[in-house]
Amino acid sequence: MFAEVVVDVMADSLDKIFDYQCPENIDIKEGHRVLVPFGKRKLEGYVLKLKDSTDYDENLVKQIINVLDPQPLITTEMFEVIKGMVEAYNLRIIDIIHLIIPAQIRSGKIKQQTTKMCYLTQFGLSNLSSIRANSKNQILACAYLKDRPNADIVDLNKKFGNATITKLIEKGYIAYNTVNRNRNPFKEDVAVSQPFNLTPEQKLAVDKILSKDNLFNLLFGVTGSGKTEVYMRVISEAINQGKTAIMLVPEISLTPKTVKQFKSRFGDMVAVLHSGLSDGEKFDEWYRLYTGEATIAVGARSAIFAPLTNLGAIIIDEEHDSSYQSDSNPRFETVTVAKIRAKYNNCPLVLGSATPTIESFYKAQNGEYNLITLDKRINQMPLPKMEIVDMCSEFRSGNKSMFSGTLLNFMSKAIANDEQIMLFLNRRGFSSFQMCRECGFIAKCTDCDVSLVYHKEDNLLKCHYCGKRFKPLTICPSCGKNTIKLGNTGTERIEDELHELFPTTKVFRMDNDTTTTKSSHANILKAFENTKPAILVGTQMIAKGHDFPLVTLVGILDADLSLYYSDFRANEKTYQLVTQVAGRAGRAEKEGRVVLQTFFPKHYVYNFCSNYDYLRFYNKEINLRETASFPPFSKIIRVLITSENDEIAKNVTHDLFLKYKDLRIKYKTEFFFLEAMRSPHSKIKNKYRYQVLMRIKNDNKQLVKEIFDISNIIINKTSIFTEVNPQSLD
Ligand code: ADP
Ligand code: ZN
Repeated sequence: MFAEVVVDVMADSLDKIFDYQCPENIDIKEGHRVLVPFGKRKLEGYVLKLKDSTDYDENLVKQIINVLDPQPLITTEMFEVIKGMVEAYNLRIIDIIHLIIPAQIRSGKIKQQTTKMCYLTQFGLSNLSSIRANSKNQILACAYLKDRPNADIVDLNKKFGNATITKLIEKGYIAYNTVNRNRNPFKEDVAVSQPFNLTPEQKLAVDKILSKDNLFNLLFGVTGSGKTEVYMRVISEAINQGKTAIMLVPEISLTPKTVKQFKSRFGDMVAVLHSGLSDGEKFDEWYRLYTGEATIAVGARSAIFAPLTNLGAIIIDEEHDSSYQSDSNPRFETVTVAKIRAKYNNCPLVLGSATPTIESFYKAQNGEYNLITLDKRINQMPLPKMEIVDMCSEFRSGNKSMFSGTLLNFMSKAIANDEQIMLFLNRRGFSSFQMCRECGFIAKCTDCDVSLVYHKEDNLLKCHYCGKRFKPLTICPSCGKNTIKLGNTGTERIEDELHELFPTTKVFRMDNDTTTTKSSHANILKAFENTKPAILVGTQMIAKGHDFPLVTLVGILDADLSLYYSDFRANEKTYQLVTQVAGRAGRAEKEGRVVLQTFFPKHYVYNFCSNYDYLRFYNKEINLRETASFPPFSKIIRVLITSENDEIAKNVTHDLFLKYKDLRIKYKTEFFFLEAMRSPHSKIKNKYRYQVLMRIKNDNKQLVKEIFDISNIIINKTSIFTEVNPQSLD
């Protein structure tokens, strides 16, 4: 018997797949993790396929050394996922396997922990009075155990001392069972919560999803329309049928609050997977799902690979959120994986959002997805009123600050009423960049050719691409004058201004810089929640999922920023962002208000946002996309070529471009666009970057395969990287 094994080696951009011989005495199955000889080394690999013969010289084919787990870690379902992802994104199989089996499991370094659960024996119970009166701790420990079925020996040792507990075990008063201990990432005890009585709208939604007349559903519901309750009902139906479920939320909304919501409904059935867990916690949560002890995976993007079998529901909340697309290799769209798993298990997939992506809504309009609408807020509260303020006219009338008169007015009122305010800004840092007012010089990273970002807290210029730090400038290196100033205003500067404007009001700030540790995110939110009046200043992070009943005012300080991106999704992203942020206001009894500051008050995006008119926005946008042949009317493929040598990169790009051009001759009508160019960030980490951009018709799999085949070559000192539907073209 022979095995095709993909070897776990970080080499070049292509998979290392080799034939190995299976030893007679070891039972090897497809999907098994194995140890194989590789050159002079022994490496881990995964059995992709078993076969009776090999095309190579049998005498030269080496033998598998061992299997590393009792059962294969890759199931038939996951082989489907691998196949689908290779087809859609040209990823290396080994990179996909790394997504399916987290590092904590692969390394073998982390082990299941066990502990002893102690209980008072019958003997102990009947002989309590015989413990000597001066062995006070022994008496206390027995009394403690008398009131409970059992207790963890670690806690007992802490409370009563190791010697005491050892003695009681020796004497037979206490006995124990050895059990697996979970490093539970969620320590808080939660009360069980009961499901709500569904509103008629919610009931219809649940029924429609469970009917499975189409497995794929788009749940289009305004903020506060009770989408979460719909998800929970669908999940509990799956559980009732003995099945399992995956619930995905954006990384950012995986706050303790969300977790608590699911834990309180489903208890220990829930396992949580996200990047904030420690290695031990991740191992245990993954393992609980793998063994079937937990049946509901709640998590961020990576949880789509949860090791569950027999799925009964997959939910992607806030489906438009960009965190569902990975921004580093391996790049993929979560929904693609979700669809493969939903089909395999014949279970419903629910994509939920108040502001679906244009692509998803188009699919819903076309019947590719069920369109399910929730258009009423549960508490019947109107959506907050949105005021658009023209910052040009503010500027003309002499107001040079970041706050319009309108916003300041509403802020003062809210503060006087002991209410809370959220201020939203699109950027982090004290200012975006340092710039010379005289000659226009902008401080840039020496390795990356992008502008540096000034950080006030440590008074440094930082490169957001490579992390390099530089001393801030005082004299312009280009013209020699001392006319260096800070470019734009960031969250920190806003915070400073607020302290001056409202000296007695507490201000909290939340952005990438203040949330570097695991718990800082939650801590800031908690502190804000418990303070009134209070102002929370933040970036995208405050846009999602939070439910603060006291927030009555939301200010969007610079709505336009996301419109500047040279991205065909700029309008869509702006619409989503504004709607999400606005949805934070007036979630409880008090009516909410939103002030949106812009230099383009007439832009149609703002007009539709302020009326919460997604449908009209969609109709306008979909027409633009069709005219320009952008997704969903096309697929974008970018081939990124990078090298430390500019000349090599340029030549490789040119060669590739010619080959794609031949393809265009062959597939004339399938191409909308083909162009080779320097990448907008032409140098990152000392590597020169070029790209070939293509827009092709959606449905030609053969063409996509041929494009991948052209890109799958190995060229010395160069990396070639193909991306399908990239989130950014930087
Ligand atoms: P969405 O996710 O659509 O923004 P939520 O799920 O947060 O909305 O629901 C808004 C609020 O309504 C929540 O506080 C939730 O607990 C409550 N809610 C949801 N469904 C019901 C229901 N059927 N009856 C009463 N309250 C509900
Ligand atoms: Zn850099």
